[in-house]
Amino acid sequence: MKSRWQTEYLEAFRTPEELGAFLEVSLPKLEYNLFIPKSFARKIKQSGPHSPLWKQFVPHENESHDSGLLDPIGDHNYQVTRSLIHRYKNRALFLPTTNCPVHCRYCFRKNELQDDAYFGPDLKSTLEYLNEHAEIQEIIFTGGDPLILSNQKIRDYLTLFASIKHIQFIRFHTRTPIILPERIDQEFCQIMNEFNHHFKQITLMIHCNHTCEIDSDVESAFMRLNQTSLLLFSQTVLLNDINDSVPALSNLFLKLSTHKIIPYYLHHPDHAKGTLHFQKSLSEGRKIYAMLRRELPGWMIPQYIIDIPGGKGKTPAFNPESYEFTGKLINQFGELTAIND
Ligand SMILES: *Cc1c(COP(=O)(O)O)cnc(C)c1O
Ligand code: SF4
Repeated sequence: MKSRWQTEYLEAFRTPEELGAFLEVSLPKLEYNLFIPKSFARKIKQSGPHSPLWKQFVPHENESHDSGLLDPIGDHNYQVTRSLIHRYKNRALFLPTTNCPVHCRYCFRKNELQDDAYFGPDLKSTLEYLNEHAEIQEIIFTGGDPLILSNQKIRDYLTLFASIKHIQFIRFHTRTPIILPERIDQEFCQIMNEFNHHFKQITLMIHCNHTCEIDSDVESAFMRLNQTSLLLFSQTVLLNDINDSVPALSNLFLKLSTHKIIPYYLHHPDHAKGTLHFQKSLSEGRKIYAMLRRELPGWMIPQYIIDIPGGKGKTPAFNPESYEFTGKLINQFGELTAIND
């Protein structure tokens, strides 16, 4: 039997005509997929066309003409099986699905999520690879969005990974608690608690970009997650005209922290084709980031991170020694030599 969230998923808006009729606007027909569950589309409609919700999820013609990259972070250079990306020594990304609870217009995997040629993970070669690579301690479920999988599927994958001794940590990267909060059901919470005994720790990394994404439905989902043994972290993408201000970000990180979700990463947006209108310059991002220090304690401030194009990997986007951005200049001994406050 299908759960309510699965029915929501199946009945989502998938064409500009359907969504446009519902939102009472005319939408461009684009080469990129459109996907918004109806319950979430109601929230978007209520927030209106100038809201961060609308701008993140409703297609815009700017997507059609830009010169961004198809594989902006060079993930494919590290793809060791169809569903496994092994770039950093002790952790690997596992991609069990290319489906998501929504299509974010700024998505860095936008151009990959287009092709429907993915038939699920190639488990045999993935398990072989994992068994041969004892340095891998953490499996990071991503995609797509792994929480779109059924509880049974999640249980099956965790059972397989639990049988490999060197895998100690499990992580899920997900936007689902924001888009389909009812997906955080009792059975999912039970599975997380149960499998926490088979690993050292399971963590959930929730993708959230603005306080307006956190309404009472989402708060209830956060409460259910807080009653499990999961460690909760967040990741946020810095987005032009959506959350590119000190108040927007500090309110978000404060709100997440009140829900016991620790801000982990603030991503500088990747140069993906079809998303360049969401880009900020690095120097604008650094100025905003530097000012967060005045608003928030250190533990509520995520790391500002950029993925260098061409597969060169994640790097801190913020050089705190840089006078230009912080107004503070530190010499080689860590002494403050100039201040402009
Ligand atoms: C981001 C990322 C990870 C996870 O890295 P952490 O910095 O440990 O969160 C792992 N593999 C790839 C390919 C990644 O891009
Ligand atoms: S949920 Fe994540 S992977 Fe899916 S469209 Fe949004 S940003 Fe991309």
